[in-house]
Amino acid sequence: MKYDVIIIGAGIVGLATAHAILEARPGLHLAVVEKEPGPGRHQTGHNSGVLHSGIYYRPGSRKALTCRRGYTLMLRFLEQEGIDFDICGKLIVATDNAEVAGLGLLRDRGQANGLDGLRLLSAGESREIEPHVAACAALWVPQAGIVDYGRVAATLQNRVEQRGGIFLFNTRILSLVNGGVRTDTGEVVECTRLVNCAGLYSDRLAPAGKNLDHRIVPFRGEFYQLKSDRQNLVKGLVYPVPDPRFPFLGVHLTRRIDGSVEAGPNAVLALSREGYRWAQVNPRDLAETLAWPGFHRLVRRYWRTGYDEMRRSLSKRRFTQALQRLVPELDSADLVPGGAGVRAQALDRAGNLLDDFLIEKDGNAVHVYNAPSPGATASLAIGEFIADRIYS
Ligand SMILES: Cc1cc2nc3c(=O)[nH]c(=O)nc-3n(C[C@H](O)[C@H](O)[C@H](O)COP(=O)(O)OP(=O)(O)OC[C@H]3O[C@@H](n4cnc5c(N)ncnc54)[C@H](O)[C@@H]3O)c2cc1C
Repeated sequence: MKYDVIIIGAGIVGLATAHAILEARPGLHLAVVEKEPGPGRHQTGHNSGVLHSGIYYRPGSRKALTCRRGYTLMLRFLEQEGIDFDICGKLIVATDNAEVAGLGLLRDRGQANGLDGLRLLSAGESREIEPHVAACAALWVPQAGIVDYGRVAATLQNRVEQRGGIFLFNTRILSLVNGGVRTDTGEVVECTRLVNCAGLYSDRLAPAGKNLDHRIVPFRGEFYQLKSDRQNLVKGLVYPVPDPRFPFLGVHLTRRIDGSVEAGPNAVLALSREGYRWAQVNPRDLAETLAWPGFHRLVRRYWRTGYDEMRRSLSKRRFTQALQRLVPELDSADLVPGGAGVRAQALDRAGNLLDDFLIEKDGNAVHVYNAPSPGATASLAIGEFIADRIYS
């Protein structure tokens, strides 16, 4: 059987793409092929659940554009489907005077990205919003919110099925072949068009012979949870001022839609592309990372940051200290281990962590090579973009 379109990966980006293609062209014969038994089992099901406002991203970048549009589309989708969400707002916190200038830059960037209602706050004003947070100044972002993206993924699957899309779960794609894809059972599934939304494995599914200028390097983000009797320390979303050298936002405190509060994620090298714990080591994944010239350059430049992140991963006391900068009352006894997620972060040969989303068209295929945070917020807009590109 030959499909009009095959999408590899039933994460939120693959699902949103399937949805957008079937909305634009009803009746297409479309299949989503996923190696796991259900949707959203990797990044989509292991993230912070934040509806990002779009404040952080370079104006005009694909991240900025799709985050802003995706946010609007996502809220509409959540309302239509009756999925719980909460626009609780976010406080970005300067914990010392050196960080205050960063708040102004973020405010300007947010305004350039079209955000309204951003407010620079004094320490006292910030305490009115988050009484337990120690800020010397803060930026209030009213648009930020929370949702369960696992639920969004399951609902998108239903919508795609209602529009005639087919899901082939428990099916791993090994490679692309002329006019189709080869599965791990050796079968070739034929298709006219293909979209690679394989997240942590997107580079492995590049066209044969293509010399990619980047590799996916898996960065694990580990979480703790606040014990239930300490969840009152945080009302909404409390973030530090991010380090502009990295695409990660720094450990933060996040209220989840179920009322729990999560602390994290940090960013440590995962020893396997799906390595949710230190003990999960995949020799092929690790060897590929270590052999990539960009990795050596990254380590040479930022070994100190990487070393500190590792120590924080292995020491609850250090993790707590990072959080205490935001909420001094927190104690390590207030934290219990939470989950972890692994970011699919593209790293180029020169050692730069790709900041923007990277989506490339290659013949009849579109490849999503870099879609880390805010990929979940932006997913519906990314899907729209791909649905347009694949037929242009
Ligand atoms: C710790 C963490 C926190 C985050 N927080 C947020 C947040 O608060 N807000 C936000 O907007 N974004 C957040 N993100 C980013 C967001 O989760 C991702 O951008 C988004 O989930 C990417 O979706 P995806 O579909 O590209 O990838 P994934 O969800 O990883 O899906 C890829 C799918 O492809 C499948 N696949 C891979 N290889 C194959 C193969 N060979 N054959 C078949 N199937 C294959 C995988 O099994 C997987 O299901 C966070 C990410 C992490 C890791």
